[in-house]
Amino acid sequence: MKIKYETPIVEMQGDEMTRVIWDMIKDILIDPYVEINTEYYDLGLKNRDLTDDKVTYEAAEAIKRYGVGVKCATITPNAQRVEEYSLKAMWPSPNGTIRAALDGTVFRAPIMVKGITPYIPSWTKPITIARHAYGDVYKNSELAVNGNADCYITVKYEDGNVEEKKIASIDGRGIIQGIHNLDKSIYSFARSCFNYALDSALDVWFGAKDTISKTYDHRFKDIFWEVFEKEYKDKFDASGIKYEYSLIDDSVARVIRSNGGFIWALKNYDGDVMSDMVATAYGSLAMMTSVLVSPDGKYEYEAAHGTVTRHYYKYLNGEQTSTNPVATIFAWTGALRRRGITENNKKLIAFSDKLEKASVKTIESGIMTGDLAAIFKRKDVDVKKVNTKDFLTKVSGLLK
Ligand code: NAP
Ligand code: MG
Repeated sequence: MKIKYETPIVEMQGDEMTRVIWDMIKDILIDPYVEINTEYYDLGLKNRDLTDDKVTYEAAEAIKRYGVGVKCATITPNAQRVEEYSLKAMWPSPNGTIRAALDGTVFRAPIMVKGITPYIPSWTKPITIARHAYGDVYKNSELAVNGNADCYITVKYEDGNVEEKKIASIDGRGIIQGIHNLDKSIYSFARSCFNYALDSALDVWFGAKDTISKTYDHRFKDIFWEVFEKEYKDKFDASGIKYEYSLIDDSVARVIRSNGGFIWALKNYDGDVMSDMVATAYGSLAMMTSVLVSPDGKYEYEAAHGTVTRHYYKYLNGEQTSTNPVATIFAWTGALRRRGITENNKKLIAFSDKLEKASVKTIESGIMTGDLAAIFKRKDVDVKKVNTKDFLTKVSGLLK
């Protein structure tokens, strides 16, 4: 008897090698055990082009409706892709579109296995990065100043009031930049972090540069504190978890000395840079999970890596590829577990746990894809590099 659940999950198919792996995972690991109930959206680049990208917006709306989505990696087109796929337009990143629709925060965490040691050996537990995904330098306005000049920021209010402040007197040539953020988005960011912390029973560490940026970064610090005190303190006390703010410099030093096992909340730029550092330090991009959480509790799961184009071209040539499916498996288990939680479906939750365990144990038994074989270090285990399909078949055997 297959495991059933009531409400559909929003399934978003994607591109290239991950599109191929997507179907394999469903066929080999999920369909035999679970009555898959999804509302399907094809976000493959061809279909985005065919629908003038409407399909992406529809998928985002569906996630709002059903509360849980699982997404395959997708191509973000550039000039070369426009030519390759004869696109009508250079469509925007689907992740960007969905993030904007859900006003969400992205949480990324590594999947850890015995045999792959982080570059920081004291990191025995995963560090989950929570990156604010709005504003700052990503929505900036910059000017090159070509000559002696006085530079100002100006705010023109709707009621006609004007506020002005001098940035600098430039002597010769220079550059200036204006950035912004919205209280609404910072409140959402704070709530997403605290909700995720309660769900996963992890502490939250937030770092910003409030000592230097006394208005801008300080606003982040104040909003986090206000939301925590008013809405979350009691719940955190009851769960035995903590919220701590520190200066970003101090935060970095403490993270390096830590054992992991917490959520590191970061402003947009810090999160961009630090997530690459943390992913690399844990060993492999192919072992990074990613989940977008909206402030009202909608979840979208995916792998952190892209469509693995280089492997796809080999696949098209008829070659077997050893592409790592683990982060995509965990996207599915994340979504199924979340559905299990929303419907209090213990069998579905147990299935998700078991599939994750089987994936990790397969690697720990020495059977793995090439990316891991290259960095796996254990004397008591013989490493065997296998192709994607054989890896999934091994996981299935263990799962049974
Ligand atoms: P990528 O697909 O993540 O691949 C970069 C390299 O990392 C691969 O060539 C491969 O190295 C290794 N790698 C990544 N995932 C792997 C896996 N599962 N198993 C084994 N090796 C893996 O990034 P990209 O090449 O920069 O981007 C390719 C396309 O993906 C682009 O069109 C981009 O727009 C898109 N993208 C989508 C998302 C998303 O949807 N979330 C995120 C990032 C990129 P080797 O070739 O050395 O084996
Ligand atoms: Mg980056």
